[in-house]
Amino acid sequence: MESIFFVNGVMNWYKDHKRDLPWRHTNNPYKIWLSEIILQQTRVKQGLPYYQRFIEKFPNVQSLAQAEEEEVLRLWQGLGYYSRARNLHACAQMITKEYEGTFPTNYEELLKLKGVGKYTAAAIASFAFKQDVPVVDGNVFRLLSRYFGITEDIAIPKSFKSFFELGQKLIPKKEPDIYNQAVMEFGAIQCTPKNPDCKNCNLADSCFANSNQRQEELPVKTKKVKVRDRYFHYFVIKLKDQLIMKKRGRNDIWQGLYDFFLIEENSFQSPDQWENKNILSLLAQPEVELQNESKIYKHLLTHQRIYAKFFEIEIKDQFVINKQLKSSGLDFFNFNEIKNLPKSILISNYLDEKVF
Ligand code: SF4
Repeated sequence: MESIFFVNGVMNWYKDHKRDLPWRHTNNPYKIWLSEIILQQTRVKQGLPYYQRFIEKFPNVQSLAQAEEEEVLRLWQGLGYYSRARNLHACAQMITKEYEGTFPTNYEELLKLKGVGKYTAAAIASFAFKQDVPVVDGNVFRLLSRYFGITEDIAIPKSFKSFFELGQKLIPKKEPDIYNQAVMEFGAIQCTPKNPDCKNCNLADSCFANSNQRQEELPVKTKKVKVRDRYFHYFVIKLKDQLIMKKRGRNDIWQGLYDFFLIEENSFQSPDQWENKNILSLLAQPEVELQNESKIYKHLLTHQRIYAKFFEIEIKDQFVINKQLKSSGLDFFNFNEIKNLPKSILISNYLDEKVF
């Protein structure tokens, strides 16, 4: 009884309150997949223009598969979590090569795609193919745990199974797409993490959290995220209208994006310490001049706090790129080329503030 009331309650609420979003007017799996990947860890308002730009540039999975990875990263610039963009591109190529350009039509097969987890597979399976597979994301965890009074720790992987099984019991066979949209939207708009609107909630009378004033405690999430501090010393080396930049490699943040010659230490160091340590022998060359040391830029990621300083260095024509620089993959780019390179927000912010 409680379950029927819940399902009818969220679905009725959805009909009256849903936001009009472009991916809700389609059952095209490419568009649905694209919107879901963009909206992971991104708010709708921020993700919407990216979705529109991607659809305009890559109207189908084939055009995305044929693009250069740099082009995809550039379009993604500003959204963060760049592995999503690389997976998006790799997945498009996988669909073209292994699935003849057509998305798989069921949950299990969708799960085999690169970058497609349980949540995204359930979203595509239900929205595009009306399969009755429940979505479980942060919004759904919160809504179900509050309404049904579930105290399982959502940070523990096995809790997913309990919520997924509850979702399987709740999801109606006839309108699985509407149900999934409804629970996600309800969690995003009505049953928000802070200050849920219980006074105007059509589920309030039968909601466990509301009846017991437990909204703040639910969902239970104990895992603490450890945040690491990192100190980046960037060397912005300029020759006339060119800067020396490089593409970032694997095994660290911002893979495939461009930045400058970088030295990372456990704290900030002053330029005279570089010479003493013989880390940056280029500074010892007579034709090199350290022009400016920037303010400290702070950039927050989920598990890292990046502090960055930019040391601006002007070089003359006769400057020799030494072995250390060459082996780091550095190259000259003029200002126009730099505009089109994919870059992290940290680098873009620095360049935007800088008038070269
Ligand atoms: S009554 Fe409050 S806590 Fe319960 S579902 Fe509604 S908004 Fe969420």
